[in-house]
Amino acid sequence: MKWNNKGHEFDQVYEHIKGKNKLYLFGAGDYGEKIYDLLCKEKEIQGFIDNDKEKQKQGYCGKRVYDISEIDKAEEGVGIILCVSPYTRKPIMQQLMVEGYRYNETMFTMEVYMSVYYAYELNKTYFPSISFLPSTRCNLNCEACLNFTPYMKTFDERPWEQIQADVDIFFQRVDYIMLFHISGGEPLLYPKIGELVEYIDDNYRDKIHILRTVTNGTVLPKEELLEKLSKHRIEITVDDYREAVPKSSPTFDKLIALLEKYHIKYEVNKVDEWIDLAPMTTHHEDWSEERLCKKFEGCHVPWQELRNGLLYSCNYASYAHVAGIIGEDKDGVFDLRTYEEDQRKELMEFRLGYNKKGYVEFCKRCSGYIDMNPNKVMPAKQAERRKYEVE
Ligand code: SF4
Repeated sequence: MKWNNKGHEFDQVYEHIKGKNKLYLFGAGDYGEKIYDLLCKEKEIQGFIDNDKEKQKQGYCGKRVYDISEIDKAEEGVGIILCVSPYTRKPIMQQLMVEGYRYNETMFTMEVYMSVYYAYELNKTYFPSISFLPSTRCNLNCEACLNFTPYMKTFDERPWEQIQADVDIFFQRVDYIMLFHISGGEPLLYPKIGELVEYIDDNYRDKIHILRTVTNGTVLPKEELLEKLSKHRIEITVDDYREAVPKSSPTFDKLIALLEKYHIKYEVNKVDEWIDLAPMTTHHEDWSEERLCKKFEGCHVPWQELRNGLLYSCNYASYAHVAGIIGEDKDGVFDLRTYEEDQRKELMEFRLGYNKKGYVEFCKRCSGYIDMNPNKVMPAKQAERRKYEVE
């Protein structure tokens, strides 16, 4: 969205939030539990709402779990916070709209509610998530890599001092983050991954709900590293690429056994399709500003990247810059290095999707995130050669 009233974009939303003193959390799961923990001392949480009948029978966190039909939406002060993953919430939002709830008036995503509540009421900064990428080094060669690694002549490995400085500056500005995500490349190939996790855990753990990284499931970390990862309570998403990379199957099985052995919390992620952002064949340079703003707004990309003291409005735009596909986009970043306390609401707005132009330059070369992207491809399909060699 384009900044039209910088520092005040959520004033009206806050007016609605302020008036809600009977809150329900939609989603009796991990997100719901965390939001409940963060809010229960300050706000009156009536209970959870969930479509799962079993959960309705059992209750959650000592609270009742309601069916949506049991909530009297006409009652003064009733508000719903959606505590479900951005990837699964679309049908729930539709369900609530059909029930008569209005977005940012009587129902709020957890990202918006928490960010606005922290900024306006607590004078603090809440972030839903951040993508942090120490290195693009990877052993695979995926055709549709979202880091655009096939376009790079060499891997981009950031100096440790820069990484440490980024972590420090981030936590000097941000009071609480739901998900700090260490991304890649293949993070387990980054030589200082253990030190990075240790540094974050030792210094900033009380500001993080989930510290997570990801692996492509084709790399076996040394046991010394596994010990460290376990000690510092990082969760790992293990991507299952065995179909595209069949020779990795034995490694995948061994990796799972090791994660079990070291009691590292993990989840296996197997998806049916990937998207290709297709920067070489997408050309929207002639689109009007208005059309580009609409594209950015409809894209719903949930990730921003932290790099060199800058927050990038869209992480894929940042990756494209690192890969040399596009130049610098000064309007698509927020400078944390020069941040002053009185910019708290601007920072919150930027994290929730506002920026100077209302889009980022890379939108002109990108086919968009999951919902809008028509280029569905096989996950982790391996390219014969790196793209820069063939173009
Ligand atoms: S269209 Fe592409 S560049 Fe633009 S916000 Fe979406 S993912 Fe980012």
